Amino acid sequence: MKIGILSRNKDLYSTKRLVEAGHERGHEVRVIDTLRCYMTIASQRPTIHYKGEELTGYDAIIPRIGASVTFYGTAVVRQFEMMGVYSLNESVAISRSRDKLRSLQLLARKGIGLPVTGFAHSTMYTQDLINQVGGAPLVVKLLEGTQGIGVVLAETQNAAESIIEAFRGLKVQILVQEFIKEAGGADLRCLVVGDKVIAAMKRQGAEGEFRSNLHRGGKSSIVKLTPEERSTAVRSAKIMGLSIAGVDILRSNHGPVVMEVNSSPGLEGIEKSTNKDVAGGIIEYIEKQARVGRTRTRSKG
Ligand code: ADP
Ligand code: MG
Repeated sequence: MKIGILSRNKDLYSTKRLVEAGHERGHEVRVIDTLRCYMTIASQRPTIHYKGEELTGYDAIIPRIGASVTFYGTAVVRQFEMMGVYSLNESVAISRSRDKLRSLQLLARKGIGLPVTGFAHSTMYTQDLINQVGGAPLVVKLLEGTQGIGVVLAETQNAAESIIEAFRGLKVQILVQEFIKEAGGADLRCLVVGDKVIAAMKRQGAEGEFRSNLHRGGKSSIVKLTPEERSTAVRSAKIMGLSIAGVDILRSNHGPVVMEVNSSPGLEGIEKSTNKDVAGGIIEYIEKQARVGRTRTRSKG
């Protein structure tokens, strides 16, 4: 097969591993810098151009679209879909997963366990919003945050009010969430491919830190998931319409609760802590799935 990896940087661990895994299985693999693609939109023959040549003959693409290039990145993926090329994750599903509120609403609708979450636009009823999620302690999150930046624990009612008002003063969007204290500063990253969790790790925040992000000093280790956690992860990816996803789960007193579903999960942490060939698993999945016209939504959204 001829596989394109849409990635801004060919030297990233995840990109390199996918190239390697593709080569090992005898495929032609090329890294395509998403932002360097340019396109023509015509009803008969949509095309993508790259560094002066037309991109043709691809059997599949693996989109690795960073949060900062979602808009253009999903347009490139959509164009491949219009050309009939199979995309591991579809453009519609990637856009969906990038909107935290929309994702939580979709998951809630299908009965996935979630931390009680509130969001509001106006500044008026801060106290009531806090009460709606069960009062302090609670977590306030920037809607656009990643790597744990902009995730704050408000231990008291007063602190919660001040933090919410401060964020609002900055005109950034936030959500407020029940604090899952019993998770003990740890979460589970479940790497879902198709209808299976192919690898999972536990991330434990540094001493005194409730955020488990590896970028914030968290440490990862191998973990055995319960059947409920496993099915929660697989169902969440499916609801989002993602063939590959990193589903983050907290272990709460009322069962597994999903925090977020990531459409371009990093491979380094999970491969190194589990010793599993996740990149190989992804390529094998593509071998089974990729067919011309296999794109399900046909980029309707
Ligand atoms: P980001 O997208 O920046 O990674 P997350 O929502 O994943 O933001 O939060 C970062 C970390 O903070 C999580 O990995 C988890 O360890 C911790 N955390 C987030 N929300 C909660 C919560 N409601 N209760 C307990 N811990 C939480
Ligand atoms: Mg996170």
